[in-house]
Amino acid sequence: MKVFIACLGTETNTFSSMPTGVQTFEDTMLFRGDATRRPATTFSMPLHVWRAAAEERQGQVVESLAAFAQPAGLTVRKVYEGFRGEILDDLRAAMPVDIVLLSMHGAMTAEGYEDCEGDLLACVREIVGPDIVIGGELDLHCSITPKMVENADALVVFKEYPHVDAGERASELFDICHAAHQGRAKPVMAVHDCRMVSMWRTPVEPVRSLVDEMQAAEGRDGILSVSFAHGFPWQDVPETTAKMLVIADDDAGLAAETAQAFGRKIWDLREETQQDMATIDEALDLIEAGPGPVVVADVADNAGGGAPSDSTFLLARALERGVTGLLSGYYWDPVAVRFCEEAGEGATLRLRVGGKCGPDSGWPVDLTVTVNRILEGASQSFGDATMGMGTAVWLSTDAGIDLILNSARTQVFHPNGMTQLGIDPASYRGIAVKSTQHFYAGFAPIASRIAYVACEGAIPPDFATIPYERFTAPYWPRVGNPHGG
Ligand SMILES: [Zn+2]
Repeated sequence: MKVFIACLGTETNTFSSMPTGVQTFEDTMLFRGDATRRPATTFSMPLHVWRAAAEERQGQVVESLAAFAQPAGLTVRKVYEGFRGEILDDLRAAMPVDIVLLSMHGAMTAEGYEDCEGDLLACVREIVGPDIVIGGELDLHCSITPKMVENADALVVFKEYPHVDAGERASELFDICHAAHQGRAKPVMAVHDCRMVSMWRTPVEPVRSLVDEMQAAEGRDGILSVSFAHGFPWQDVPETTAKMLVIADDDAGLAAETAQAFGRKIWDLREETQQDMATIDEALDLIEAGPGPVVVADVADNAGGGAPSDSTFLLARALERGVTGLLSGYYWDPVAVRFCEEAGEGATLRLRVGGKCGPDSGWPVDLTVTVNRILEGASQSFGDATMGMGTAVWLSTDAGIDLILNSARTQVFHPNGMTQLGIDPASYRGIAVKSTQHFYAGFAPIASRIAYVACEGAIPPDFATIPYERFTAPYWPRVGNPHGG
């Protein structure tokens, strides 16, 4: 058995003006054939799992490119075509292979390629022919397209948001594809369009129970896999909506029925699962009321959704109100980081922070700051993975608010990104994190409470009013009943 493995992905916020070029991949993850000899990240984790699973069965592994970019705007055409070309060249050289396994995001759009994953899978199919098993693992913020389904034998989507299950899903996908290769199973996929645009947090009810139910249905009565593809609301493509995807064993009817049944369940929960969003002032009220630390999530400036991670809307209002005891980050501000490095630890200086990337960032804020700590090569945990932060700087300000700046754009995942700087996050009244949900697993244990804040920014959380152009189908919550009837 010869298994070919590769990774190519990013999550494209088509509304973002920040181009995704080769530097963003280099800063995030770019390995050529040796990702499994490096520490695992969320999107290289599947390659580690697949290599181990294949080698356990005396299989041969051919490892190609592993490229992932921190989400931003459209991927530059020649960058996508270049990476795709590398994978396809490696595949041609490796032929004949028995199984192709790809770790992808599922919401990647490049200039001229609205559906990069569908395109990549179709190119792979063209090379290997109809009989070789192709499997793909996707982030749950993916837009499943007919082209992806047509050109893969099995697609398995993360079940957890925060995404802490990339390894488990990789292992399940391997088992399905291995069984198909050996003729022990014949995976067939069906997709049900939920016609919903929203975000669903899986650690909390009622979504927790739904995910448990999906998992309980797997591996019995002919069902191989049940995936809920939440969709990525800020990728404006014809297939933006949430979908249920089911893989059954040689039974297309069963796959379709099961997808529809689970689709009905998430539809019925629509009101209950709508997010409660605080205004900035409501969030600051919570912090002032205490006890701390109240963790407030600035969801609109989440780098993980393609936002700049340097917006100042919440900070500016906190300064205006004189809120103290607040820790806020991470501000992606390489210029300010540079100034802090020049001044050195212990220095006090006037510094212009944030608000630099565009209108979604708000205005820069001018502060007198003291540089407490500078750390090169900073990182933070995310599940079992380690996520780089570049150079991180801990600042105290004369306004009684502490800030963390960094040089490699990333959202906040875990408090150890703060403690490595010598910060005690639990000692603050409030912690403002630029993240939508991935912070949750790490911060829930230290938070007195958690609030999600609807600031202005690149990822506006009002799903009914996102200004789509390419996505034209009716969807909830823009219309009450997009299914008609
Ligand atoms: Zn995601």
